[in-house]
Amino acid sequence: MSDNPNAEIVAIGTELLLGEITDTNSVFVARQLRDIGVNVFFMTTVGDNLARITEAISGALDRAEVVITTGGLGPTVDDMTRQAVADAVGKPLEFHQALYDGIAERFRGFGSRMTENNRQQAYLPQGGLLVENPVGTAPAFIVESERGVVISLPGVPREMKYLLRADVMPYLLRKYQLGIIVARTLRTAGIGESALDDQIGADILSETNPSVGLAAHHGCVDIRMTAKAETKEAAETMLDRMQVRVESRVGGHVYGLDDATLEDVVWQCVRQQGLRVHVIEAGLAGVISDSFPEGCGLLSSTWYDEPLQLYEYSAADEAEATLRRLAIEVARRERERRGVDASVVVLSFPDLYENADVEQGSAIAICTARDLRYRVYGFGAQSPLAREWLSRWGLANLWRMLREGCAD
Ligand code: ATP
Ligand code: MG
Repeated sequence: MSDNPNAEIVAIGTELLLGEITDTNSVFVARQLRDIGVNVFFMTTVGDNLARITEAISGALDRAEVVITTGGLGPTVDDMTRQAVADAVGKPLEFHQALYDGIAERFRGFGSRMTENNRQQAYLPQGGLLVENPVGTAPAFIVESERGVVISLPGVPREMKYLLRADVMPYLLRKYQLGIIVARTLRTAGIGESALDDQIGADILSETNPSVGLAAHHGCVDIRMTAKAETKEAAETMLDRMQVRVESRVGGHVYGLDDATLEDVVWQCVRQQGLRVHVIEAGLAGVISDSFPEGCGLLSSTWYDEPLQLYEYSAADEAEATLRRLAIEVARRERERRGVDASVVVLSFPDLYENADVEQGSAIAICTARDLRYRVYGFGAQSPLAREWLSRWGLANLWRMLREGCAD
């Protein structure tokens, strides 16, 4: 396999610059290129102006080996891509009788008359390869020149996508002998991004094939591995080996692959082990209990909308009764009182204490016979992130604690 080429995308159309339409074409092309390992470092949007389109294509050719344009291939005066490509690569436009006949044929098929301006569409830059367009009238083309390859696709998204998939991608794979890229994600929970980075180690994280990178979400971090090989099977084998290496360092935090969700993994573990979990939520009721699968009889939950109901648990010395203490106390007592394997308490009351020296808005505590874990967050119940963080932290720690065992 040779080194992958770099590509640039040039989206053509004044409508784009006026904000009248969104450039979804470039996004689509970029994703397709990403999947075959072609790097895109620049994307340009340019209006229907010959000199500026030529300049955009020419600038892209200075930087990249492949330039993909979309739009401006139609028959009207504002469709100038053909001429601009010809100018950028320094070749004249040439008339193709067969192309003209093909377009005329299509018009007859539609039962409509071809107008003279459709003749324009039968011109291609000299030496250009025709990409036939069975889903529209504007023919696309590929020009291979000393400055690089220009691939011009129509602007209509349906046509553009069709031609990209059917013709352009196979062309690029063939021409540049590109490999197949396969990605796999290891999902982790209960460990932060920097600790994960540290434990996986710079040696693994600096490798390029497979490459290993981290992506942090609220409360969870993904380890994304990508391998490139000549076949899918070979890439999968490389990923299998890399997964073993990564898991030998941080496997304890990996709860699943690709589409696995923390919710599913936790409640599966609860069901399989026949555990009883009680969840008490106040303020943000439903953060944890909403993730209960339908009809899971092993779990029970209590919601409190009124924080004062919990005061009976709080210690005599009210000044010290922070949310943390409350959460821990309720978690301990409820586990014993209900005779369950684990209790989870989520409290989220930003205004619970009037003397404002208590800043914490949310607390979460989990208690098993062996272990007690808790965490206090500074955001209030109003924070849109509170739900996400509390549920991730809660499920991640519940999962780890249940896996480590609940019994004394
Ligand atoms: P046609 O033969 O239909 O004129 P064309 O290649 O000349 O095709 P344009 O005239 O540039 O394409 O665009 C046709 C339509 O396609 C636009 O009106 C717009 O709706 C859509 N389109 C063009 N460019 C984009 C883009 N970058 N992203 C999304 N849609 C686009
Ligand atoms: Mg057009």
